[in-house]
Amino acid sequence: MMTRRHAIRTTAVAVIAAAATPHIVTHAASAGNAPGASSPFTLPKLPYAEDALEPHIDAQTMQIHHGRHHAAYVSNLNKALADSQAGGSRSIEELIQNLNSLPESVRTAVRNNGGGHYNHSLFWQMMKKNGGGEPRGELAKAIESGFGNFSDFKTKFNEAATKVFGSGWAWLVLQDGKLAILGTPNQDTPLSTGAQPLLGVDVWEHAYYLKYQNKRADYLSAWWNVVNWDFVAERFSKRA
Ligand code: MN
Repeated sequence: MMTRRHAIRTTAVAVIAAAATPHIVTHAASAGNAPGASSPFTLPKLPYAEDALEPHIDAQTMQIHHGRHHAAYVSNLNKALADSQAGGSRSIEELIQNLNSLPESVRTAVRNNGGGHYNHSLFWQMMKKNGGGEPRGELAKAIESGFGNFSDFKTKFNEAATKVFGSGWAWLVLQDGKLAILGTPNQDTPLSTGAQPLLGVDVWEHAYYLKYQNKRADYLSAWWNVVNWDFVAERFSKRA
């Protein structure tokens, strides 16, 4: 029979081994649909310099948002999972899609911090230097058939982002094979309700307050200039 001390030591060794295995570390630039890997999770590198999205998103906001806020979600997620030994080899997607399989004591921490890690890992990739414009190809057609035209889509997306009360996100998702726009509070993700996020915008004040203060609408109109439609189209083309 395994003693408790032995079990703890074995877990610690397993965690160190996982951290040292290169293939477990996944970087945002190549992560695509799978930000981070299994527990313990790591902060993905930004796929561009902190000032790459200037003047729309300022460098200081990016630095604090990525280096402090996202980093805190990752470390708080790891702490919750380590304390409860609930992480195992599950991916971030598996964890946040199966919150009920986790001990009740860590469910809220994983929902908030795991959701934060997942959402932000996607968010960095959903933006790029010299982004913006309009989507092309199949995604453009799907947006037209779902929302009338690109301009109407943008209006509806902005409405959803403006309507999020307090902190949260607005999303373009695929749900039951169709495009839809929805808002989520806090760090909840569309994944938890079975939708696949294609494009999302962070409307927590930490995402824009330094440059735009309370003017969320100004932040939103600037944000469209950095949207990485290639990344969104790639996610759309890989839809199930
Ligand atoms: Mn954020």
